[in-house]
Amino acid sequence: MKFKSINFTCKNCGAPLRFSPIEESLKCEFCQTIETIDSSLKEIKEYNLKEALAELNRQNEKEINKEVKCTKCAATFTMNPYSFSSNCPYCGAPAIIDFVKEITPHSLIPFQLSQKEAKEAFKRWVGSLWFAPSKLTKFLRDDEKLKGYYLPYWTYDAKTVSDYYGQRGDIYYVTVERNVIVNGREVRQRVQEPRIRWTPVSGRVHNEFDDITIGASKSISYTILDNLAPWHTDRLVPFNEKYLAGFTSEEYTIGLDNGFELAKVKMNSVIVQTVRYDIGGDQQQITSLKTNYYDTSYKNVLFPIWTAQFKWKNRTYNYAINAQTGKVSGERPYSWLKIALVAGTLSTGVGGAIYIDEHPQIIKKASQFLHLLSVNKS
Ligand SMILES: [Zn+2]
Ligand SMILES: [Zn+2]
Repeated sequence: MKFKSINFTCKNCGAPLRFSPIEESLKCEFCQTIETIDSSLKEIKEYNLKEALAELNRQNEKEINKEVKCTKCAATFTMNPYSFSSNCPYCGAPAIIDFVKEITPHSLIPFQLSQKEAKEAFKRWVGSLWFAPSKLTKFLRDDEKLKGYYLPYWTYDAKTVSDYYGQRGDIYYVTVERNVIVNGREVRQRVQEPRIRWTPVSGRVHNEFDDITIGASKSISYTILDNLAPWHTDRLVPFNEKYLAGFTSEEYTIGLDNGFELAKVKMNSVIVQTVRYDIGGDQQQITSLKTNYYDTSYKNVLFPIWTAQFKWKNRTYNYAINAQTGKVSGERPYSWLKIALVAGTLSTGVGGAIYIDEHPQIIKKASQFLHLLSVNKS
């Protein structure tokens, strides 16, 4: 399919303009002329999720070959099937084309971090990494180019009502007699030991969710995209092509329906917390949980991301930077020597606490294990 591209040119010298995060405007690279983007008062709307899912046309999700003619140098090039803006590979001029997907973004967060600021954020991140090889920080080169992307995200709003059944555990203490070593001698002593009493419970909790964000691109790993959150969606502006000039922009490749399934997983972990709070007591078990979603709505938005790769010992690592907040997310090499050193001290208080802090399920397992021990002893 042939696509006509648009770009914006400098009124002073005719060169192509690009969006500059520092000026929050279009800027000419040659004569530095700045063209401001009119702020729009258009409302950022939420769209009804149920209606959209019912209306979506499911057949036409084939990848399209996008032939684009550059308005600057007239060369023809092929754009990624899911991209709708990039730069001409021959002359570098920004090229923006039409959407092909049924749902199009009506709002976006403009780039706030320049490439230079993003690089600095990345270097700080590498320096702060646990287990990062010491040489890595020095190894990263300054000439490494970051690529700027506007990636598609879904945001979902929902109200939920959840019915649950479960058990509430209350700890109480009993006095038992036990042989204890005091000053090297065994003596009989009375000690307090914890027990737990389980009571069946059931109930209903309500939750309300606003702008749960789900990455809708397959170009960058879902984990990396997800870790770039939070996004400040109160800073969304109405869609305008001028913000895209110079960046690669993508349409969604994870559909509205699949995105909502991923959003449900996120909502569920909040709902489980609400249920635990509702049950109360010292421990909680949830045996069944049924959630109904209502007043569901969505937005299709574009979020700005800087991304690049680095090579370390024959492996490629991907990373990305939230170009609104500077948060970095990525794959990282580990130094096994550092891990071994820390593992040796894990049994001491400090190391153990840090380790457990990152793994709450280990605390749960450990406390269950301790509980078993105390039950077996009596
Ligand atoms: Zn110019
Ligand atoms: Zn060109």
